[in-house]
Amino acid sequence: MPDAMDTIETPILIVGGGSVGLALASDLGGRGVPCLVVEQNERPADHPRATAINARSMEFMRRWGVADAVRQAAAPEDFPHTALYCTSLTGFEIARIERPHHGGRAPTAMSPERAQRCNQIWLDPILCERATSFKSTQLCFRWRFEELRQEAGRVVAIVHDLARDERRRIAARYLIDCSGGHSPIRRALGIEMSGSPYIGYHLSIYVRAPQLWTHHDKGKAALVNFVEPQGLWRNLVTLDGRELYRFGLRGKEFYDDPDKVDVERLFAEVVGKQIPHEIISVRRWTARNVVADRYQVGSVFLAGDAAHLNHPASGLGLNTGLGDAVDLGWKLEAALAGWGGPGLLASYEIERQPVGKRNVGHADTSHANDRNQKPDPAIAEDSPQGARARREMGEAIVRAQTRKFVTDGIALGYRYEPSPICWPDGSPPPPDSVSEYHPTTRPGSRAPHAWLSESRSIIDMFGRGFTLLRFGAGAPDVRSVEQSFARRAVPLTVATITDPAIGQLYERRLVLVRPDGHVAWRSDALPPDPLALADRVRGADAVALGTAAKAEALPIGS
Ligand SMILES: Cc1cc2nc3c(=O)[nH]c(=O)nc-3n(C[C@H](O)[C@H](O)[C@H](O)COP(=O)(O)OP(=O)(O)OC[C@H]3O[C@@H](n4cnc5c(N)ncnc54)[C@H](O)[C@@H]3O)c2cc1C
Repeated sequence: MPDAMDTIETPILIVGGGSVGLALASDLGGRGVPCLVVEQNERPADHPRATAINARSMEFMRRWGVADAVRQAAAPEDFPHTALYCTSLTGFEIARIERPHHGGRAPTAMSPERAQRCNQIWLDPILCERATSFKSTQLCFRWRFEELRQEAGRVVAIVHDLARDERRRIAARYLIDCSGGHSPIRRALGIEMSGSPYIGYHLSIYVRAPQLWTHHDKGKAALVNFVEPQGLWRNLVTLDGRELYRFGLRGKEFYDDPDKVDVERLFAEVVGKQIPHEIISVRRWTARNVVADRYQVGSVFLAGDAAHLNHPASGLGLNTGLGDAVDLGWKLEAALAGWGGPGLLASYEIERQPVGKRNVGHADTSHANDRNQKPDPAIAEDSPQGARARREMGEAIVRAQTRKFVTDGIALGYRYEPSPICWPDGSPPPPDSVSEYHPTTRPGSRAPHAWLSESRSIIDMFGRGFTLLRFGAGAPDVRSVEQSFARRAVPLTVATITDPAIGQLYERRLVLVRPDGHVAWRSDALPPDPLALADRVRGADAVALGTAAKAEALPIGS
């Protein structure tokens, strides 16, 4: 490494200022934890990728104070989040899957927030503004990470300041790799990715087509999959609900030679006629369904696409990455503040890698279901055989693919099990469903939503330190727990909730919620050893750490 350069010191270096890097910087900023973000590009990306922001991600946006901004940037409140299957927009409809909990602002029973459709081209500037509103956050565009070295207790990175063509050395206590699917850091650390051997080759075409829905009879829909005798290889994704779309093509021939693709013809075919439109930009991309074998090496942590890649058809890559950022944020704060135990940061991989595998496995299955469809050759024919083929295929699609689009269980029902920093209570697990969310306070779960007042959810209480909830006026006196947490300098707030309905929802008279909103412990009685509880949840329980390390991870596709 070069020597004659000053060293920039920062507690946390985030490589990559995409959505996940910016989300982590936002979370850390809110905690007053300084960080430096280096991003090789000049500004946030301007070609659309992720659009589906699920309810859990919207809960994070709410915590960061940007949920309204995201909603305003998203498709209009009344725009339906329908997934439509048809032969073309002016052709035959085959299937329609509604998503009743998506869009708009009326809360559901599950969450104070609804899933929104806000593409990264609008989300990233919102996160960027929030991250840089903190004096403690520094964001350097056109700084490219080049190499790293791990020394005792710190990471030293060399970055290339592209504007000045100068190298800079950055020394950090922790480096968080948010550099996306092509992560140079993951490669430098020799971390493999495992999972499905499938590789999909795609072309993504950014199109402006004002009021497209006035040119056909299928109405507004968020996603349209075109079913043709050759299979399902093109789709149309609504972006702003007004005039912007992402037109997708799957095929190696498109990927290999984008300049030769007759985009105009292919677009006119799926609409079924010529309509006014403009092609804004065209990009190639590949899809894989794989998860990094390790999320941590020493002081380096992988988050977002650097850690897991999945076909985007189920809308999970970004949402999973935002979950990584939220799991890491408070643990980094605790480690730097000194109250985090030696196992706290190690729990990141133990908790988040199974979630990555679950979501990637779901995306893999869902995409294979579409990809492997073999439509009847008569599917687009105006004939009795065509009508029968469409009816049969439509039924099969709704049966198999509702779980691709209705994913409340994936969004809200993920649990950290095993986790060395949660205290299992031996209760039977609730059903593990993709589509349905079953509220529970079983340790490791997201603490459920309930309204405390017209606009304040119980989940609005979580975010900073730990929260110990007492349910009912007769709940045990928790002074011993408070004293134990204070002895270990673990931030704790105690709150008493007297609403019996919320008490019933929370299932126990005492529920301890972590700063990320997951339940760490619950009981009807005081913990027999409150100091042991404080040590467990701050990652300082050596026995629990040893046990969790041996626990088996879920295989992909489970
Ligand atoms: C067509 C498409 C549609 C999608 N739709 C959805 C969806 O609906 N919902 C969903 O949840 N997900 C979706 N995804 C996935 C989603 O886009 C990704 O999961 C998400 O962008 C990951 O965010 P990230 O911050 O981890 O990585 P990225 O967004 O890729 O950001 C990584 C950043 O790191 C920077 N970087 C890379 N190398 C360096 C370096 N050496 N030095 C400095 N900076 C560097 C890059 O410039 C980039 O800005 C979609 C993806 C695609 C391709």
